[in-house]
Amino acid sequence: MSTLRFKAIAETFNRKPVDVKEPNRRSEIFGSNVFNEAAMRQYLTKTSYNSVMDAIESGAKIDRNIADHISTGMKEWAISKGATHYTHWFQPLTGSTAEKHDAFFETTGGGQAIEKFGGGQLVQQEPDASSFPNGGIRNTFEARGYTAWDPTSPAFIYGTTLCIPTVFVAYTGEALDNKTPLLRALQSVDHAATKVAKYFDKSVTKVNATLGWEQEYFLIDKALASSRPDLMLAGRTLLGHASAKGQQLDDHYFGSIPTRVLNYMRDLENECMLLGVPVKTRHNEVAPNQFELAPIFEEANLAVDHNSLLMDVMDKVADRHNFMVLFHEKPFAGINGSGKHNNWSLSTNTGVNLLSPGTTPMKNLQFLTFFINTIKAVYEYEELIRAAIASASNDHRLGANEAPPAIISVFIGSQLTAVLDELEKVTDGKLSPQEKTDLKLNVVGKIPEILLDNTDRNRTSPFAFTGNKFELRAVGSMANCAQPMTVLNAIVARQLQDFKEEVDSLIKGKKMKKDDAIFNVLREYIKDSKKIRFEGDGYGEAWEKEAKKRGLSNNKTTPEALKANVSKKNIKLYEDLEIMTKVEIEARHEIQVDEYAMRIQIEGRVLGDVARNHVIPTAIRYQNLLIENVQGLKSIYGNDFKKVAGEQMQLVESISDHIAKINQGITDMIEARKKANKMEDSEKRAFEYCNEVKPYFEEIRYHCDKLELLVDDEIWPLTKYRELLFTR
Ligand code: ADP
Ligand code: MG
Repeated sequence: MSTLRFKAIAETFNRKPVDVKEPNRRSEIFGSNVFNEAAMRQYLTKTSYNSVMDAIESGAKIDRNIADHISTGMKEWAISKGATHYTHWFQPLTGSTAEKHDAFFETTGGGQAIEKFGGGQLVQQEPDASSFPNGGIRNTFEARGYTAWDPTSPAFIYGTTLCIPTVFVAYTGEALDNKTPLLRALQSVDHAATKVAKYFDKSVTKVNATLGWEQEYFLIDKALASSRPDLMLAGRTLLGHASAKGQQLDDHYFGSIPTRVLNYMRDLENECMLLGVPVKTRHNEVAPNQFELAPIFEEANLAVDHNSLLMDVMDKVADRHNFMVLFHEKPFAGINGSGKHNNWSLSTNTGVNLLSPGTTPMKNLQFLTFFINTIKAVYEYEELIRAAIASASNDHRLGANEAPPAIISVFIGSQLTAVLDELEKVTDGKLSPQEKTDLKLNVVGKIPEILLDNTDRNRTSPFAFTGNKFELRAVGSMANCAQPMTVLNAIVARQLQDFKEEVDSLIKGKKMKKDDAIFNVLREYIKDSKKIRFEGDGYGEAWEKEAKKRGLSNNKTTPEALKANVSKKNIKLYEDLEIMTKVEIEARHEIQVDEYAMRIQIEGRVLGDVARNHVIPTAIRYQNLLIENVQGLKSIYGNDFKKVAGEQMQLVESISDHIAKINQGITDMIEARKKANKMEDSEKRAFEYCNEVKPYFEEIRYHCDKLELLVDDEIWPLTKYRELLFTR
């Protein structure tokens, strides 16, 4: 056979696990390619070192002269590790990361050359960024963009390149990347949370948001994946009949990790160790050939960088092992998709996790304060959270009975629900000494015990409290965590600001004691935000109805969900917190709806091509075989031939029927695309692609998949689900 499918299958027969060398102790290599504190101590003067640390801890500006010292130290360190180039590494608004490499090498005249890397090159660069999406910002302002060093995320060496994490902004100040708003949101939540944490402990001076992501992915043999145009161009299969065996036995989840895959994981984890990404957990996932990787949680900005870096490294390591990584949220119909749970909490410079109950009633009141404020924030801004996780690919997952629905709700478990129910009964106004003692002993005081046996887990909730952190489960596997983290930290910052104001006004205006005031405000928050709490089955249809009654949003598609980003209320939130301006928000919206339309457009084109160029010609070839067969039978049996050729003739008809329907579907889809493309307004175009173009995909696919079942396996050109999913 000459098709790519059979060549690919033949290639996989000869695959052997690729050898991986591992150190005895991972801790020995951890962070050795990172310009971390240890490396900085060794390569920087004391003044330079302190200057970087100040920048990290309090956002202090780095003096230009000192920057020269830092860059020289950084360069010497990088060269000692074999680096020859440097790059400003950043996260543009689409795609994952971007980099442009420059050599340290510079000529000095007279045929001489040196390795040079000045402070200016460290601090600021102008990438050739005209092709990065900017939503019209740079046109509007006739401004160019530049990248600027983010000292809070350490430089690292990948391959032979020194990578310097940077933000990407226009000269007029607008953020053109995912990191800038994140850093601003993290600063907001730091300020707001620190003030509130001071109610409980005066020595708190900084609060960091923490993030522990869990990355799900599929690993498919490189040759097999490359044989599928849809996987290559759209990242998912646009057609393909279900395999006779899928994931129903759960045997992949419980089975051991195949050697080839295990070697890939070990290799990947080694790379992560060198880069200081603290990966810890690996396991099989529910679907065949699906896996998960999770690190120890870190400060949120660093964790976001590490996840972006990881996705890049995953691709590169996969190549060595003849695998392709699929990050798409739904690469295979009828098979579980992939997500990226974002575990989130707040942690003080005094080492306290603010979402972890403590050993004293006061510590627990602190816990309840942050816990309830987070719930209230999610209630107030649920649509913004939904918008932050919206993408064409994640639409396949949300609400598809395997992942959280498009409705945002909060799960806290029955025991914490009981605690909140008690708090709801707290007296309005000053509390009596008896009531306070009761509360402290019987309600607030009991929390650590409750959480010790927190076996109460609800896998169907998009936002669940899991003992000492919240877990946002609806983030897509392909997503950059920066967006959901920006939103979550921004809305909690906003909420904590309001809280502080309300508590202070009760203390001042009503002469309440601090804890009385806190109880009073929390009681109202519990009442206000009740509608967002849901403990039942989030996948059920009953919840959709109930959520509607409660007035919660259920934005099922990306264009619908993204609208929240540009609502008055949410623009105000970002402007008040100085996270983004209206211009930046609207530019982002434009980019996102544009990207959505482009993704659906690409899928439509690929589906049309594959159906017309692969499926239909193959079906015709097989039909010709059948016709030949029928003619042969006729020549033997004469007029009686129908007795023996009945099945074949039915097949011939059935094939013609499917071909006709595919052709019609494609023709109509192309018409719909043409209509959509004519729309000037990006948002309208996105809606048009969503509502008028996308619906053809299912219809076309249905008939292609039927043909896959009818046509001789030996000539079917597209690698089948059973081959993609069960080869390893
Ligand atoms: P599981 O939820 O599977 O029982 P863990 O409770 O250990 O496992 O945590 C799962 C994920 O949550 C891990 O990726 C971990 O890094 C992250 N995590 C744990 N604590 C925190 C925290 N305080 N802040 C952010 N992420 C956290
Ligand atoms: Mg999880």
